[in-house]
Amino acid sequence: MNTNTNENMDITTSQIDKANIQYLEFVQLTECVKQMDQIPQSLRSEAYANAYEYLRATLQKKCIHEYIEDYIDIDPDNGKYITYCIYCEKTLHK
Ligand SMILES: [Zn+2]
Repeated sequence: MNTNTNENMDITTSQIDKANIQYLEFVQLTECVKQMDQIPQSLRSEAYANAYEYLRATLQKKCIHEYIEDYIDIDPDNGKYITYCIYCEKTLHK
């Protein structure tokens, strides 16, 4: 039997269309950022912090944004409404 590895790879690749890959990347990046967030910012090494920032920037580029409006406290007497993405935390300014 003649097994052609390249042919098999072509079949696999063609089954995953571009939109699916973009969605998969978005899902995996969201998970990575969530995982890395578990180490508090103050305890992160420089290399870890750099990797985190790079992943977050990549997520913002690939993100399928879903914006919500939320009220945040600025100080005990003042607050304001902000609109941000629940996945990448990108904020919208009005
Ligand atoms: Zn987003």
